[in-house]
Amino acid sequence: MRPGMRRSLLTFFLAPLLALLVVRGSVRAHELALVGAVVPTTVVAPEPAEATPPHDPLAAELAGGRTTRGFVRHRMLHFTFDDGPRLDTTPRLLDALDAHGVKATFFVVARGFDGNNATDRAKAALLREVARRGHTIGAHTYDHANLTRLDDEGIRAQLDAQEAVFEAVLGGRPWLFRPPYGARDERTDALLVERGYTQMLWNVTARDVESRTGEQVAEAFAQSLDLRERHPRGPGGIVVLHDTKPWVVDAFPAMMAELERRNCALLASGEELWDVLDEPSIFHEATGDRPRMQREADVDDAFVAARQEALRARLATRCGG
Ligand SMILES: [Zn+2]
Repeated sequence: MRPGMRRSLLTFFLAPLLALLVVRGSVRAHELALVGAVVPTTVVAPEPAEATPPHDPLAAELAGGRTTRGFVRHRMLHFTFDDGPRLDTTPRLLDALDAHGVKATFFVVARGFDGNNATDRAKAALLREVARRGHTIGAHTYDHANLTRLDDEGIRAQLDAQEAVFEAVLGGRPWLFRPPYGARDERTDALLVERGYTQMLWNVTARDVESRTGEQVAEAFAQSLDLRERHPRGPGGIVVLHDTKPWVVDAFPAMMAELERRNCALLASGEELWDVLDEPSIFHEATGDRPRMQREADVDDAFVAARQEALRARLATRCGG
C-alpha cells in the first residue's frame, strides 16, 4: 500500500467512521444518564442534530441513476470540470473555487495519475486535494476514449482500468461518469448501467475549448445564460468547463461576477436568483438497471425556497443601491 493511499483511506473513510462512532457513543451515554446510570457528565455531548453523512467525494449515493443532461426549471447551476487534474492549472482553480465558496464536480482521466513517475504522483496527490476540499470526483474513462468506437470488451477494459487507478489513489471507485465527447449509444449506456454508473452530460457551455482568453470564456458563459433564460426546459443546468485550460481559471472570477450582477437585477425585480449548487444530487434519479434519460431534475419546492431566502439575505448587503 502506498503511504498516500493509507492517508487518503483515513481521511475519506476511517475519520468520518470514527467521528460517527464517537457521536453514537455519546448518545448512548446520554440515554444512560436519563435512566439514572452514573455517567461522568464530561463525556455527555449535547444531543446531536440530525446526523448528516460525511461528504463522499466518489458520490456513492449517486450511483445507479439515469443519464442526465441537466435540465431544471429553476435558476440552478452546478459546475463541472473535465480532463484534469493538471498541475499548472487545477491548483489555481481550486483556490478560485474556495474564494467564491463553490464546490464542483471533476470528471478526471485516470491515465493522468496512473504512473509511478513524479508527475503522475503529484497529480494523484492533487486529485486527493480536490477531494479533500469537498469537491465531487467522477470518471471520464482511462484515456479519454470514445466509448462508441470500442467493442464491449474494450469498454469493459476502460472501466476496469479506471476503477483500478481510483482504488489505488482514492481508496474507492467513482459512481458518476461523463463520456468523453458526450459520445454514447444504447450499448455504452447498458454497459455503464451494468457497473452502476450515473452518466452526467451537460447543457451549459462557455466555448472554453475554442477560446484562448478568460474574457472570451466569460462572455460565452454570459451568452449561455441568456440562451438558458429563453430555453423551454428551464434556465438551470450543468456547466461543462475544462480545468486543463488556463483561460478557464482566468475566467472563473468574471463568471461569478456575471452571476452576481444578474442576481442583483433579479433581486431588485423580485425574481428567482441564480443559485450555484455544491453537489449534483438534484440531477440524480435512481433507475435500477434501466439506462433511461432523465427528462429534468425533480426539485423540491421547499428546498428551492430555503436556498432562495438564504441567497436574498446574503445578496442584500452586496448589491447596494
Ligand atoms: Zn473530456
